[in-house]
Amino acid sequence: MPIPPQSGPATLDADVLVVGAGIVGLATARALLGRHPHLTVTVVDKEDGVGRHQTGHNSGVVHTGIYYPPGSLKAKLVASGRRALVQLCRERGLHLDVCGKLVVATDEAEAERLAALARHAAANGVAATTIGPEQVREIEPHVAGVAALHVPGAAIVDFEEVAQAIAGGLAPRGEIRLGTSVHAVHPDGATVVAETSAGPVRARAAVNCAGLFADVIALRSGATTDTRIVAFRGEYHELIASRRHLVRHLVYPVADPRFPFLGVHFTRMVDGSVHAGPNAVLALAREGYRWRDIDRREVRSLALSPAVRRLAVRHWRTGAGEVARSTSRRALVRSLQRLVPEVETRDLVRAGAGVRAQAVRPDGTLVDDFAIERQGRVVHVLNAPSPAATASLAIGDHIAALVAQVLI
Ligand SMILES: Cc1cc2nc3c(=O)[nH]c(=O)nc-3n(C[C@H](O)[C@H](O)[C@H](O)COP(=O)(O)OP(=O)(O)OC[C@H]3O[C@@H](n4cnc5c(N)ncnc54)[C@H](O)[C@@H]3O)c2cc1C
Repeated sequence: MPIPPQSGPATLDADVLVVGAGIVGLATARALLGRHPHLTVTVVDKEDGVGRHQTGHNSGVVHTGIYYPPGSLKAKLVASGRRALVQLCRERGLHLDVCGKLVVATDEAEAERLAALARHAAANGVAATTIGPEQVREIEPHVAGVAALHVPGAAIVDFEEVAQAIAGGLAPRGEIRLGTSVHAVHPDGATVVAETSAGPVRARAAVNCAGLFADVIALRSGATTDTRIVAFRGEYHELIASRRHLVRHLVYPVADPRFPFLGVHFTRMVDGSVHAGPNAVLALAREGYRWRDIDRREVRSLALSPAVRRLAVRHWRTGAGEVARSTSRRALVRSLQRLVPEVETRDLVRAGAGVRAQAVRPDGTLVDDFAIERQGRVVHVLNAPSPAATASLAIGDHIAALVAQVLI
């Protein structure tokens, strides 16, 4: 149903305020403007550019949806989001390479889990073929495996470039205010008012897409949520230029099904470099890109959180392995050699990190699916980890439909 033109109090800054100019916030603004011809949208971000956090620090992989439980929001939105993203990249001439990926089993136990993954892919309608060691070598001559799942639809993009392209298409009804931090969003009659570092911003509805700070903003805004965001840093290494030929496309291990991260893998980036990683270590600051980034308040909050303690008890073994791979390059190389035996320690240099926003429940379990909730006039995106960049355009549509319930 079309939304009527702005008709509220004269002091309205926009119909909809979006907090966060990451790819999810920008895609939300795009979807709102695309659906409703009279709407105005203001996107606010504390940084001085768009896509400065998760969106600008990830693997750049357009996922196909082999991992997610059939019927989940992730499975649904990654399928339509992937199609829309590929179309957007083609239309706008953005970097895109549909290079395909291999999920490689290195022993019989992993081959069994690979078979389960193949069934999962089929249930989600994703084209994927199980291949033997000879076919693995044909696709990736330096990769060793007893079997692999070949997923030809996996692709690579530059999500920061995509975010900038989306941002560039929002005018004239969409405005982006950078360098403006939002503290909270409060209801005020038939509007909401955001307290920001540049003064109040009033709108008819708001969307909280603040990524690593989404739970903080939700709680300050009076939302009820029992999950909290835990920041997991993913550190990357890069193959030196003379060894890039070891990996042609995307090479993944068979992921541990108890953990939402995909295991250290090789990713060819759109600039031709090959990244190894990311691992997953607990960050001691929400935007803790390095071990030395420590926010004492965050550390205290992590230490006092029963959810985090239960999480640590559940996953201490995996966590210890991740810390070992973070602090010892030899441990990292041993993991990588399972996939590509020729990789040596001297072939790798450090290549930055990203920090994932992962919601955790009070019982210490990780929220697996996307969590997007409307509470009154505010939609809160409480969990949008991978593959949210791939799914962003579909997530934007999903959120736009929730916002429309408030505005109509
Ligand atoms: C290491 C790593 C690898 C990944 N690999 C992939 C991949 O290959 N494929 C894939 O699909 N996904 C991947 N992801 C996941 C993907 O990057 C994220 O799911 C996606 O970028 C989330 O986008 P977002 O807009 O929700 O968050 P973000 O990009 O983090 O944006 C949130 C924005 O909110 C702003 N903000 C926060 N607090 C405030 C405040 N108080 N006031 C104003 N602004 C605020 C921040 O500055 C930021 O710009 C990866 C993530 C990581 C970290």
